[in-house]
Amino acid sequence: MLGLFISRRTFVAMAPAGAAALGAQSRSEPVEDRVDALLKQMTAEEKVGQMTQVTLELISRNNEPHQLDPSKLQTAVDHYKVGSILNVMGHAYTVDHWHEIINQIQDAAAKTRLKIPVLYGLDSIHGANYVVGSTLFPQAFALAATWNPELAERAGEISAFQTRAAGVPWNFYPVLDIGRQPLWPRFWETYGEDVLLAREMGKAYIRGLQGSDISSKEKVAACLKHYAGYSLPFNGKDRTQAHISERMLRQYFLPTFEDGVKAGVPTVMVNSGEIDGIPGHANYHLLTEILKNEWGFRGFVVSDWNDVERLYTRDRVADSPKEAVRMAVMAGIDMSMVPLDFSFFDLLMQCVEDGSVPMPRIDDAVRRILRVKFMTGIFENPRPDPAIKARFDQPAFAEANLAAAREAITLLKNDYQVLPLARGRKILVTGPTAYLHTVLNGGWSRSWLGQEEELFPKDKPTLLDGIVNAAGKENVNYVPGTSFDKEIDIIAAVSAAANVDVIVACLGEHAYCETPGNIDDLTLDDAQLRLVTELAKTGKPIVTVLAQGRPRVIRPIVPLSSAIVMAYLPGLEGGRAVADILFGEVNPSGKLSFTYPRHPNALTTYDYKVNETLEGNHVDPEFEFGHGLSYTTFAYSGLKLSSATLRRDGDLRVNVDVKNTGVMAGKEVVQLYVSDLYRSLTPPNRELKGFRKVELKPGESRMVSFTLTAADVAFVGMNNRWITEPGKFRASIGKLSREFTLL
Ligand code: BGC
Repeated sequence: MLGLFISRRTFVAMAPAGAAALGAQSRSEPVEDRVDALLKQMTAEEKVGQMTQVTLELISRNNEPHQLDPSKLQTAVDHYKVGSILNVMGHAYTVDHWHEIINQIQDAAAKTRLKIPVLYGLDSIHGANYVVGSTLFPQAFALAATWNPELAERAGEISAFQTRAAGVPWNFYPVLDIGRQPLWPRFWETYGEDVLLAREMGKAYIRGLQGSDISSKEKVAACLKHYAGYSLPFNGKDRTQAHISERMLRQYFLPTFEDGVKAGVPTVMVNSGEIDGIPGHANYHLLTEILKNEWGFRGFVVSDWNDVERLYTRDRVADSPKEAVRMAVMAGIDMSMVPLDFSFFDLLMQCVEDGSVPMPRIDDAVRRILRVKFMTGIFENPRPDPAIKARFDQPAFAEANLAAAREAITLLKNDYQVLPLARGRKILVTGPTAYLHTVLNGGWSRSWLGQEEELFPKDKPTLLDGIVNAAGKENVNYVPGTSFDKEIDIIAAVSAAANVDVIVACLGEHAYCETPGNIDDLTLDDAQLRLVTELAKTGKPIVTVLAQGRPRVIRPIVPLSSAIVMAYLPGLEGGRAVADILFGEVNPSGKLSFTYPRHPNALTTYDYKVNETLEGNHVDPEFEFGHGLSYTTFAYSGLKLSSATLRRDGDLRVNVDVKNTGVMAGKEVVQLYVSDLYRSLTPPNRELKGFRKVELKPGESRMVSFTLTAADVAFVGMNNRWITEPGKFRASIGKLSREFTLL
């Protein structure tokens, strides 16, 4: 655990080594003492500057956008004294170019009165996506489908290493929003719909990013985002209203963030939308009362892009830009991602001068920011380490990436064992996601929207390349069929199908991010559905591969597809990993991290309420949360509880035997669910309470054991606090179940 949440004295050991840039202060002083000493020397302008974050664009040349403009840089760092700079102009830069940028910025900072280094931040959301040559992992909802936190930790480690190697010590990640609204264009950035799965993946990723010391040259400071409730927009559109009671917030949307705070993550980014009429950036209760006071968070809160000003321009809770700044800072925002001008600085200075933002609030914000700056070690080592470049790309990184993609990809349907494909069969590959890298990586991939095909390495296979590499060129015919939403040559695809044994239809979505990814209909585009419908008339078996960032409804083609493979956004190794699964090199073990809907207007989650199934209601998803087939079979038996009762201060063992009853080695995710049979608030039909991924050879069997405590069956009660109630519960694994009583 990092120093932010441990006692003041322990900061002695945590204080990073290296040459101190703080005049009288010694590097061996505890971080808190260094913060206090520095704060005492600061003018109001210097403090407000620390709270200001601008984007790279603001300090770059207009005519040569990839070069810094020295006079603009001086204006930002010297005149406005900005504490932080973020982002990238357009697309990814080489490590060398990042070094140049960071060096110029830190050189400018070193010339200022107090020499406070600038904290640079990037969105390395599935790898160091703005650094040329970095490893791009499966996106979060796919990583969650591995149900393997070790893979998440490794992805976090490599992402941190490559981000820091570029000279950037701060990563705006992980996204800890819970994905319970599949229309939302950032659904794929979440670890899915379940709180426990998201908590375990999130904690593992944070371990990978931060390790035990964020001043390490191989680690970054993480940023928990987007606090909180951002992921449940009522209409599915990005940055719009959600309706979430405090009880539901605490039950579903806060636990991942509280874990992150406990794990020592030193920064938090705010929900760009609103809950029950309160914009995230004006929510004093969430930002100050819960995050800072109740959880004891001592790092800093950064706004999201332009969201302070939006309190006036969009949300209309502030009647002037100055009031927006006052409101945000008083709600608990410590740093504003302004990001395209210095208005925040000017307006906050006005608030300081007229006393509408009192100095203790400014001091608190700046103290938090400086604390993080000391912890990241940038006072001692503001400049990137040139030596690390030689280690930037390592074969082990691509291997880890491939391992993650292989375990993520999920076999949703496999009738008559059409998969794995036998070698030597003739294959027609068709569909809009077959030949593009962008569709495997999604947004935040080399650029914000991730839509520039030319930015991806040509040696990484697309889905089509992967199939050609595995099956041999002579066995593969490719006909596009359709673009995402328009027919190209469906007739040609149908006639090509006459000469093959099997059709692989690669469907899905183009790359997108945030608001540009909004949709009005969850159903997959007509053109793609029609492609499969026409191909099905040939009678040839169809394998549908889905590369997409959310579960687009495919109901009409489910019965027409013999097999369906959910590829998600599997990252740079996705083309290879999908082929490995199609041809049986790898036995699929991914399990859905969300409920795959059958109808666009029948959206629900696996932990639905009983009333959704009675009196004419029914829950009928296309594929259930936790679903995923294998080329082998697993049998469960011998579910046993160590006792029929669970005491409030005790625990209960849940044991089950799982056996590989097929002929191929494989991995299975053992999932423990618990149903609270009666409680004072309507209980979900079941909730995930434990999971374990096990690898079994044919015929091998293993006992898997879980421990339940009363905390595992607690829920947020009417008083908005976690409570437990005595009563009957049912534990289930697979089709087996046993009841127990909480005393
Ligand atoms: C996104 C954040 C991101 C920020 C900086 C915003 O538009 O909502 O997730 O960290 O931009 O790039």
